[in-house]
Amino acid sequence: MPSKCGVCGQVHDNVAMDVAFGMPDPFFRLGRRERDRRGQVTSDLCQFVDAEDRERFFVRCVLLVPVPEAGDSFAWGFWAEVSEQDFDTIVDTWDDAAPSNTPIRATIANPIPMMDGVLGLEVDLLTQGAEDRPHLLIRDKSHPLAQQQSRGMSLHGVVEVLKKLESSGEIKVAE
Ligand SMILES: [Zn+2]
Repeated sequence: MPSKCGVCGQVHDNVAMDVAFGMPDPFFRLGRRERDRRGQVTSDLCQFVDAEDRERFFVRCVLLVPVPEAGDSFAWGFWAEVSEQDFDTIVDTWDDAAPSNTPIRATIANPIPMMDGVLGLEVDLLTQGAEDRPHLLIRDKSHPLAQQQSRGMSLHGVVEVLKKLESSGEIKVAE
């Protein structure tokens, strides 16, 4: 039952609890022509050769921030950059039913408009089995997003995030 927000007094209902990034930021920034020439992206995986002739590997993941008052989590659909070896492992075990207990070192490959230092942030990637995208946990527990991840955020906070993302234009709210 939606009730009035303690911050703004409005009723926040039908709030989108996911956002998705279409591709990793370093790939997006190449522009369409260079993207076509240097790599490929699907809804889950991306790889390309960068301007220094380095092969780069990315997996679309989920970083969950609990929203206790909604009894749910807000899901950031970040891309994470991984090593070639880890990319191969993730692809090879894609359809495995069991989640992995072994974290894979990765970095977040998308910036967000309301918080500095998210692009390039070190994370542990944990595969979830065939049913779900890999989950991300921020390694630096003092980072503001890590603190949100451990403490949770308000529904009002989610609405504010969605407004900022919408006006930034680079992101789409997931269906
Ligand atoms: Zn509010």
